[in-house]
Amino acid sequence: MLDKRKFYINGEWVDPVKKNDFEVINPCNEDPCAIISLGSKEDTDNAVKAAKNAFESFKETSKEERLDLLEKLLVVYKRRFGEMAEAIIYYEPIGICGLITPWNWPINQIALKVVPAFATGCTMILKPSEIAPISAMLFAEMIDEVGFPKGVFNLVNGDGAGVGTHISSHPDIDMVSFTGSTRAGRLISKNAAETIKRVCLELGGKGGNIVFADSYKNAVRDGIRNVMSNSGQSCDAPTRMLVEKSIYQRAVDEAVDEANKIGVDQASKKGDHIGPVISKTQYDKIINLIESGIKEGATLAAGGPELPNGLNKGYFIKPTIFTDVTNEMRIAKEEIFGPVLSIIPFETEDEAVNIVNDTSYGLGNYLQTDDREKAHRVAKKLRSGCVYINGNAADAGTPFGGYRQSGNGREGGVWGLTEYLEVKTVTGWKN
Ligand code: NAD
Repeated sequence: MLDKRKFYINGEWVDPVKKNDFEVINPCNEDPCAIISLGSKEDTDNAVKAAKNAFESFKETSKEERLDLLEKLLVVYKRRFGEMAEAIIYYEPIGICGLITPWNWPINQIALKVVPAFATGCTMILKPSEIAPISAMLFAEMIDEVGFPKGVFNLVNGDGAGVGTHISSHPDIDMVSFTGSTRAGRLISKNAAETIKRVCLELGGKGGNIVFADSYKNAVRDGIRNVMSNSGQSCDAPTRMLVEKSIYQRAVDEAVDEANKIGVDQASKKGDHIGPVISKTQYDKIINLIESGIKEGATLAAGGPELPNGLNKGYFIKPTIFTDVTNEMRIAKEEIFGPVLSIIPFETEDEAVNIVNDTSYGLGNYLQTDDREKAHRVAKKLRSGCVYINGNAADAGTPFGGYRQSGNGREGGVWGLTEYLEVKTVTGWKN
């Protein structure tokens, strides 16, 4: 319980002249939440005397001096905003949540939804991806073992057209948290509109990676590894590498060399190779996009649409690099979600920023430079929820999410909790 029994008089925190404790009641649960003192006549007189003395000089101060003090007060207010919010604002769990997750980092996306839903007091129905549901089932077994109250966590497997659509439109579900494609995000928003539920969307991306001439030594190679990891199936993969013209040829040579070093093999084998992509649908889509790149005139510098050597079955795709790509080509516009990278040359900083921002997505962008000032200037101009500088990953608890058609939600840390909360204002009463 907060102890606030002093008064602020004449520039000091002072004890009341007479002890007269008073409990402040929380109107939500009728429990005492703070203790203050009720002042006496003497306390009031002391305060009046202080104000009367101060008035003589304070009335003579200039408007500028008073504005200066008010501005300082604003700084302190902002610094202690959290405490003020706690004193006057209530957060409550939003209610029953529908959690719909994809297959590409399956347990990560489930944990990012289930944990904040539990933490905020919501109950939930999880529908994991029907093509990667096993980690969700295992997670549900763990939840069962812990013994959460019955009904708090529920798991229903199903596809998008069935369970996914029913969750989105269900009148008893208060919010949907969705991670997946922009296509499905649109459908979910439409299906949810009738019931005005909150819809938090974490959608696709088409990340740009600006490699300036003053980048650190391994910037290009790291960029290639970043795209190819998880067989290219990451929403924030930096799939468009923009390279400053003065180092373009060197960057292309390094990119091709690095891509050719990445092995492709069975996922069950040990090693640092990449495995297949998830499904026949994804495989066909990726091959179609690789073929479109060739048709549209980009230079195929590594990889290509054929199966990797030694593999004649399975959805395997060679790490593929296109150079001399323009932002109008399909491979630069569409989310490929496979091990495919486009390299685009640029001459000026503004040109690079314009190319990166020329997309309907806005999830993760990257930039590489030795110049701190330039890095922060460019980071500000990039229209995306995340900007990663010089290969540095975000710390745990930092918000993750997109601008534009990459979604409207933020997951992780405090921001990840607020999606599951309603804000309620409770006023006092007049006698
Ligand atoms: P997907 O949209 O096909 O499916 C995701 C989930 O939505 C699955 O559970 C699916 O059954 C369900 N679903 C599909 N259509 C639906 C509908 N009409 N109504 C309700 N539910 C529906 O996506 P995917 O192929 O599983 O995952 C890959 C996509 O996810 C990529 O676009 C990737 O960028 C995106 N993604 C985004 C993030 C992020 O945090 N922004 C993270 C990972 C993946």
